[in-house]
This record gives sequence, structure tokens and C-alpha cells, in this order.
Amino acid sequence: MSAKIKNAHLAEVYEEVLTRNPGEPEFQQAVYEVLESLAPVADKRQDMVQAGVFKRLVEPERVIIFRVPWVDSAGVMQINRGFRVQFNSAIGPYKGGLRFHPSVNASIIKFLGFEQTFKNCLTTLPMGGGKGGCDFDPKGKSDAEVMWFCQSFMTELYRHIGQFTDSPAGDIGVGAREIGFLHGQYKRIANEVTGAMTGKGIPYGGSLGRTSATGYGLCYIAAHALAAKKQDFKGKTVVISGSGNVAIYACEKAQELGAKVVAMSDSNGYVYDEKGIDLKLVKEIKEGRRGRIAEYAEAKKGATYKADCTDIWSIPCDIALPSATQNEITEKDAKLLVSNGCKCLAEGSNMSSTADAVAYLVGADIIYVPAKAANAGGVSVSGLEMTQNSTRLPWTAEEVDARLQKIMLDIYNNIDAAAKAYGMEGNFVAGANIAGFLKVGESMMAQGAV
Ligand code: NDP
Repeated sequence: MSAKIKNAHLAEVYEEVLTRNPGEPEFQQAVYEVLESLAPVADKRQDMVQAGVFKRLVEPERVIIFRVPWVDSAGVMQINRGFRVQFNSAIGPYKGGLRFHPSVNASIIKFLGFEQTFKNCLTTLPMGGGKGGCDFDPKGKSDAEVMWFCQSFMTELYRHIGQFTDSPAGDIGVGAREIGFLHGQYKRIANEVTGAMTGKGIPYGGSLGRTSATGYGLCYIAAHALAAKKQDFKGKTVVISGSGNVAIYACEKAQELGAKVVAMSDSNGYVYDEKGIDLKLVKEIKEGRRGRIAEYAEAKKGATYKADCTDIWSIPCDIALPSATQNEITEKDAKLLVSNGCKCLAEGSNMSSTADAVAYLVGADIIYVPAKAANAGGVSVSGLEMTQNSTRLPWTAEEVDARLQKIMLDIYNNIDAAAKAYGMEGNFVAGANIAGFLKVGESMMAQGAV
């Protein structure tokens, strides 16, 4: 792979990453994509090469791994493994979500923390990159078990976080319920009520608009990219994978913008509703009773269910919004989408596309907005939540949404300009990586050998 990185120094940095991080394919993939884009920058910026910026960038500042013991409702001791990767604090306190999913391991948390560093640079807010999580599966656990687990997890995590140090939020498997329990335990141990956690409930310091921010932001940036090609959401057919936080609010905004969303999924399968997804029903199933997407087809006449979530991309659509998990778009899926007439693919999930799919999409006749830019709305509103907590002044939903819209427009303009400046117009992968890198890289240079 390193042979494809067209700068000798960056190829060497990548080789070192492979040697230092064996058995971590997701982390290696995320680093590869960034270094490949940065070749033209490294060619121009010998000062950054000399200062070891690229070498430092791929090494997390700190990786914390800890035991999470808790006792389930049958009285059995359970042991999970917790992680917090504090990747880069050059532009602000570490910021990034917590993922609770059985697949969580060091590779996944490191890839997420690495990507977060660039994403947070794009938001225009002063936030460094971090990410955390645990191989705990909240599915099938009682509320009490989730609380006992969250309390044990925070009993270790609390000493590593804080409003000026590191501020976690949600991600897969960490929603309002989990954030509530985590915040409660942090407050209890740290004896302070601050913006150390974001995504909190509205009555206790949360920001209006945080729940919907990632999905709404995804549609806002896709709309800007479409507008540049004189297109919009109106009358378009949309396919969205996932049916969690990001997917639900992407669906809500896409529908508001006049599109017809025809399919959504979970890890078991997907539903297709030719008449357009009934979002009220999806919310009832997923948010109301933590049910499965298959229940949608049972309740909705005319809708069908297929027990294979990976097949969702065979549905012809104008706009695809992957919003479930990493590597959910393979090269085969990307080719199928394009040959079926898809005009825009914007990533709600982090690293939605495999390396081969990215290489194909960048050269194909499709608008492709990568996750670092496309799903930055969530962390942006988390940043706004921290601001509101610090000033003790909550903002209205309209004010938060106006700021989110402005941030997504700024991100679009920024990645578009960076791609153009390096002679790669329309290549938003390069645009996002370069724009993010320049901000964090310059900041690291200015702060010396840290
Ligand atoms: P949720 O836990 O709310 O929802 C995740 C959805 O994706 C569920 O429908 C889940 O199905 C499905 N899913 C999870 N893992 C897989 C898998 N391996 N294969 C197929 N489907 C899967 O998470 P979010 O909506 O918060 O996160 C979704 C994506 O968006 C993640 O990549 C996350 O990193 C990214 N993201 C989230 C942000 C946020 O603000 N929440 C911000 C920026 C990015 P099931 O219920 O069956 O597990």
C-alpha cells in the first residue's frame, strides 16, 4: 500500500505505522487515506517534514486501556475492556465520542480518534481529537445493568477527562440513556458539574439540537455539494443505512428538504418502503422501545424486509447516506450505486467506505463527501454545548441550528477551497484531509516538540 503514497517521507511514516501497530487494520486504513492525500502538502512543506509533524500526527498522545468490572442482574461478575485514546490536543481539549459495541478494540478506537482530530479541525471550533469506548454490548441489557456498567466505566474514566482536558460524547451504543448515567457518575466522583460530557439531557445542561445535529449536518453539507452542481434534495430518492441516532435525523432532514427516503436498516437487515419511510414509526420502534427494524415491515403495509443489511446499496437511489458503521460501503457497493444512477454519497458513519471504495468514488462521476466533513455536525454542536455550559446560558433550538448550518457551510467551503488550491477540484477526500491537516499541523509546529 505504501507504494501508492507519492511522497517518500510519508511512505516511510506509513511503513512505521504498519510496524508499530500490527493487527490494527482499521487504524492503518484511516492513516493510509490521510497520508495518501497529504503527499502534495509534504512535497511543498519541508519545514513540516523537518519538524516531524507527520510522524507525530500518527502517534496518539495517550492511549488508556482499563478493566471495567460490573455485576449483572443474575449476580455474575462481568469484565469488559474500556478505552480512551487522547489523540491530539494541538488545537484544544480532546473531544470525541464513546462507542459501546462488542467489536470495540484498540484499532477501532485509534482510527476513530485519528479521524476525529481532522474532523474537529474542520468544525472551526477549538477541539482536539479523542475517542473512547468499550466492548460492552448494551443490547439486551436491562436499564439497571446499563447503569451499573456505566458507573463502573466512569469510575476509571473520570480521572482522565474534564471540561479543559477531554470531553467525551456519544457514538454507537451510547445515546441519551448512557450519557445520563455517565454524567451522573462523573458528577458524583469529580464533585463538579461542568461540560465534561456532551449529549446531556436538556434539563441538565444539554444543548437543544444535539440529538439531531449529525444527521441534520449531513444533509446540510450534502445539499451544499449538490447545489454546486445545480441539484438539490427535492424529489430525490434516498437510501440511508442504520436506524440509530445519525440515520433517524438524516432521514428527518432529507424528508424536510423534499426527498423520499425509501430504505433504512440495522445490523440484521433492511426495510424498503416504496411510498417513503414513515419516520414516526421508525422512531417508535427504535427510540421508543429499542426494537428491530424488521418490526417496521410487520407494521407497515407494502413495506418489505430483507435479512441482509449489506444488500441495502442494491436499491437504486439518487442520494446515499451510509449512517451505520465503518467499511459498510465496499468497492462493489460503490460501483453498484453509481451504475444505478446515484448522484451523491455523503458519509454519516465514520470511515463508511473501504479503501478500494474510496479510490473508486474519488474518480467516479458522483459527489462524494467523506465522513470527516460530512458528519462533523455532531461534534460541532457538542462544542456548542460546551460553550453554553461554560457561559451558563442555554441557546434556543433556532440559534443552535443557525450555527450548525453556518458551520456546515464553512466546512463545505473550506474543503472545496483546499481541493481547488491543490489542483484536485471536487476531490473532497483530499480537501478534507488537507484542510484539517493544515490547521492541526501548523498548530503543532507553533507549539514546538510536544
Ligand atoms: P447508534 O448506535 O445510534 O446506531 C447505529 C446504527 O447502525 C444501528 O441501526 C445499528 O444497528 C447499526 N449498526 C451498528 N453496527 C453495525 C454493523 N456492524 N453492521 C450493520 N449495522 C450496524 O449509533 P450512531 O447513529 O450514533 O452512529 C452511527 C455512525 O455514525 C457511527 O459510525 C458513528 O461513529 C457515526 N457518528 C455518530 C455521531 C453521533 O453524533 N452519534 C457523530 C459522528 C459520527 P443495530 O441496532 O442492529 O446494532
